[in-house]
Amino acid sequence: MATPVAIGIDLGTTYSITARMDEQGRSAIVRNLHGDLLTPSVVFFDDDEIVVGKAAKKVAHVHPDRIAECAKREIGNRYYSRPIHGQQIPPEAILGSILSRLKEDIQDVVGSDFKAVVTVPAYFDEPRRKATADAAQIAGIDLIDIVNEPTAAALAFGEQLGYLTAGGEARETIRVLVYDLGGGTFDVTVIELSPGNIQTLATDGDVQLGGRDWDLLLAKHVAEQFHSRHRIDVASDAAVMDNLVRAVEESKHTLSLRDHATVRLEHQGVADEIKIGRSEFEKISQGLLERTAFTTRQVLTAAGLTWQDISRILLVGGSTRMPMVPAMIEQLSHISPDRSINPDEAVARGAALFASYQLKKRTDQSATPFQVTDVSAHSLGIQGIQQDTLRRENVIIIPRNTPLPAQVTRPFVTQTANQNSVVVLVLEGESSEPGLCSQIGHSVLRHLPANLPQGYPVSITFSYGSNARLSVEAALANMDHRVTIELQRERDMSSEELGLWRQIMDPKDGTLVADLLHEAFGVGTQNASTPAQEQPTSPRDSTIAEQPETEPASPIGNTSRLSHGSPSSETSAPENISTPYTDAAMGTLPTMHTEQMAGTSPTFSFDTAIDHKDRRRQAIIRRTIFIFGHVISSAIGLAVGYYILCRLRPDADFLHLFSQ
Ligand code: ADP
Ligand code: MG
Repeated sequence: MATPVAIGIDLGTTYSITARMDEQGRSAIVRNLHGDLLTPSVVFFDDDEIVVGKAAKKVAHVHPDRIAECAKREIGNRYYSRPIHGQQIPPEAILGSILSRLKEDIQDVVGSDFKAVVTVPAYFDEPRRKATADAAQIAGIDLIDIVNEPTAAALAFGEQLGYLTAGGEARETIRVLVYDLGGGTFDVTVIELSPGNIQTLATDGDVQLGGRDWDLLLAKHVAEQFHSRHRIDVASDAAVMDNLVRAVEESKHTLSLRDHATVRLEHQGVADEIKIGRSEFEKISQGLLERTAFTTRQVLTAAGLTWQDISRILLVGGSTRMPMVPAMIEQLSHISPDRSINPDEAVARGAALFASYQLKKRTDQSATPFQVTDVSAHSLGIQGIQQDTLRRENVIIIPRNTPLPAQVTRPFVTQTANQNSVVVLVLEGESSEPGLCSQIGHSVLRHLPANLPQGYPVSITFSYGSNARLSVEAALANMDHRVTIELQRERDMSSEELGLWRQIMDPKDGTLVADLLHEAFGVGTQNASTPAQEQPTSPRDSTIAEQPETEPASPIGNTSRLSHGSPSSETSAPENISTPYTDAAMGTLPTMHTEQMAGTSPTFSFDTAIDHKDRRRQAIIRRTIFIFGHVISSAIGLAVGYYILCRLRPDADFLHLFSQ
């Protein structure tokens, strides 16, 4: 049986690109139906078809209400920020339609027998990775795996520079810093390539920073120039500004090659050409560039490295073509960035290489062991109650940049005597303030044994796989009483929903897109039984199947030793031990980083869940006591009043008065 072709898909925020492995075992870019390398990640929901790419981008200014752009930035949200055809659409359905388009381009070149790896930014959390896999399913793509963009880029550079053997193994150990500035996002990652292993050492990024922000500044600058010359305000007209932002992107590209560019602007019958110099452009966007420099320095520090430890700097993403980027990097590091590979292509090529290693490994068990070790891009913790202050805090259990897979156990205690349940709220984020973190899961350890003393130890274990999947276990010390938390994510799509979106994203026989949406969901109606009618909410803010009522904690136990929410600072570096943990994605036995936070006194307790029955029972008891109290106090009041009257008017016959 022929082996399927290995495909890599760089599903970008603004542009997407695909690569395949050719007959010589090297990566090659797959051009789209227009013959272009890049396909704009723009979707136009026309009446009778869904248009993706260049053609969609062209009509964006004519039908802004039917265009979906930068949907990748919104992945993790329930719906795309604007309704299309009056319908709320999940971002993964939009990405699914882009992947459908790419799939057709791939099929034109390699046929239908292919399997793909799709890339995601290293900072993507688990729900976003799952949503990306859902998008591939909507597109009907046979997905092998999801890989981090910087890891893919490092592989492509490894191939290009001859660091990799034919089996994909690095010949020597090199440390590379991948600086990826795309259209909508920025991330920077330090990776070590060594024989048999690609290990991410640290990663950080900014989801809201990319080439588009440079476009916005340039457009604003042009509008200001126009205003100062003609006293006409363009900036306050959103539609005109939208078009101007699209128009200046071309000028920005020109400024990467030449030292000036001209933008033509016509508004309210006045037309003018505004000339912009490169140095002027660099000056106005200095702040944006400085933000990327700041993150770069931070990542190096997080990896515990200095510039002397970095062998190569790889520039990835279209925006690194702006000359200000390599200039800044060189000034910062005194290392000349590598230009040996096209910054647009690196990620897709690396993803194809990764796909081919994965396929090889599936068919040939003796294939070179090749392991990818990632780090947790965000800190993961649970909400605990500080015993001293009673404050609810994000108690970090797996700090960011911990090598994966990792397993960490941390002791907590029950909050009150006879506590019958424990609320475990899983948080993702760096802040100690739970409200500033994302709530990614929730569970309750119920029916605790009776008569548990206050401060009874409860251990929480986080197991974070190298596929960035988290499982959480809560267990009572010395008892077989435990619960494994299934993360109940708001954004999880059911297979029925996926199937439905797949049908909609792939309209056949001239069925109208609007009709399909209407049939499926009843456009404009509010039917809570269908997913699309729910109101948009912030990401994962109400993932809980049952919202338990909580009661405040009371301070307990010894509080002297643990600092707030910083378990890592209290323990030595993770102990590395080999365990028979099988990484499903890689089929290898990577090292599990395990950490036991035993021996430290637990500082944090939990909220108690009160289930609905309990709540009702307590409400009835409260009400009964309330009514009973009223009756008793009224009776006493009457008796006292009667007694006082009798004392004041001893000869009056009050009972006689009442009876008249
Ligand atoms: P993403 O992966 O986020 O979609 P890409 O890596 O494809 O992004 O980069 C797209 C961004 O790169 C866009 O903002 C685009 O304007 C910018 N870009 C592409 N070529 C150039 C260039 N020559 N000069 C400046 N910016 C460029
Ligand atoms: Mg990209």
